[in-house]
Amino acid sequence: MPEITPENTPALAATHIQSDEPLLFEISSPGKRAWQLPPLDVPEADLELLLPAGTRDDIAGFPELSEIELVRHYTRLSTWNYAIDQGLYPLGSCTMKYNSRLNEVVARLEGLAEGHPLQPAAVMQGALRLMRRLEAALAEITGMDAVTLQPAAGAQGELTGILIIRACLAARGNPRAKILIPDSAHGTNPATAAIAGYRVENLRSDARGLVELSSLERLMDESVAALMLTNPNTLGLFEEDIHRIAELVHARGGLLYMDGANMNALVGRARPGDFGVDVMHLNLHKTFSTPHGGGGPGAGPVAVKSFLEPFLPVPRIVEGEAGGLRLETDRPASIGRVRAFFGNFGMFVRALAYILANGSDGLKQTTDDAVLNANYIRQQLEDSYALPYATPSLHECVFSDRLQARQGVHTGDIAKRLMDYGFHPYTVSFPLIVPGALMIEPTESESREELDRFIAAMRAIAREAETAPELVQAAPHRTRISRLDEAAAARQPVLRWQPKAQG
Ligand SMILES: *Cc1c(COP(=O)(O)O)cnc(C)c1O
Repeated sequence: MPEITPENTPALAATHIQSDEPLLFEISSPGKRAWQLPPLDVPEADLELLLPAGTRDDIAGFPELSEIELVRHYTRLSTWNYAIDQGLYPLGSCTMKYNSRLNEVVARLEGLAEGHPLQPAAVMQGALRLMRRLEAALAEITGMDAVTLQPAAGAQGELTGILIIRACLAARGNPRAKILIPDSAHGTNPATAAIAGYRVENLRSDARGLVELSSLERLMDESVAALMLTNPNTLGLFEEDIHRIAELVHARGGLLYMDGANMNALVGRARPGDFGVDVMHLNLHKTFSTPHGGGGPGAGPVAVKSFLEPFLPVPRIVEGEAGGLRLETDRPASIGRVRAFFGNFGMFVRALAYILANGSDGLKQTTDDAVLNANYIRQQLEDSYALPYATPSLHECVFSDRLQARQGVHTGDIAKRLMDYGFHPYTVSFPLIVPGALMIEPTESESREELDRFIAAMRAIAREAETAPELVQAAPHRTRISRLDEAAAARQPVLRWQPKAQG
């Protein structure tokens, strides 16, 4: 810290660390410590014995701070986050819904929280039953026959599902080379197909924003292992021709994979198993109210039709003698493990709590509310922003910045300005088939009042784009940190802190 003098007092006051938190290294002073203990009244232990071999003692310069400085540092940083607990989080495709505190209470029950995956099956019957019950609930919700909970994310669920398809086709003596993916797909879909060793072929969307059937008819041949379809797709549109799509894929010996990340639009209303899907994944951290992103580990269960069950990852939880459950690992057709132990067990507890607390009526209501909220926003903003597809949408709506772009204002600018109005931005520039996309997903969590505040902010920004485009282009203005050079940050990232040169 610099010396405090009358001359620099105003400057120091203006840059109080409350408004710009330094690193712990930068506020460190030699000799400070964050603990206080009475003098030692037993012989000092030999550190060599206590510390594992190989512990380094030659690293100098760890930060030295008092306890209150440490507490304030992390508390301040925590207030910099925007979270669903603060307001609407309309990040489209991510389903940033509220996670009920009830789920957290249940997940912290001692018997569940303190279990260990290496306990013998005989003493973890409750945990096994909980997982079986969640598998059954997800099978019922999706209309599928069997579920694995192992994958730790949507993307890992995709890989698990595609490996299951690969194993199935290999077992049929009919391995194939290609996977078809619509141009509106999430980026993880082509990445998954490529990692599983497939060539990706792009499927065009038509003027409705749906899969173009004529393209599918042309591309679907005996070299195609599967179609990876998101339904509703990333425009928030239900693939109306889904039965025909499934027929076309199956007629040529291919399988239909569904990216189920958008199931918040379908739960209780439509079941993928009933419209021809063979394999799909779910995102518990989207649809089933478990923490998302930095808040906690994810879970991407995979659901399959019965003919694919032999290929599911091991271990499987199966009925044993005398009504007990046991773990089955000897399944020769299985693709093997995809995750240590059972997956992220704590998420299973939360998801089952959410499902049981809602019940079937509540889950259906949730879906209806999510769709209603998105359509309310769509209808209220239609006059201010261009709507590239007129097809009725479900749980999210996608606008483009076409009207604002005439003034040089783009989707990224509008998103930054939204931060000045106190909201987390929507998803910017995705899906890729909409140039300058604004993808908005409010979820069922929001009240009419919060939606109205968001709509008012979006309308105000549309007016500003007309009258004061430079204001929007330079946003945000009211945030702690103003506009960053994102291109430089991506191309020349500075990943390591270096102390400022002294003097
Ligand atoms: C979120 C999402 C994924 C990926 O899920 P992760 O859990 O982030 O790996 C895949 N597809 C779609 C459509 C998504 O919205």
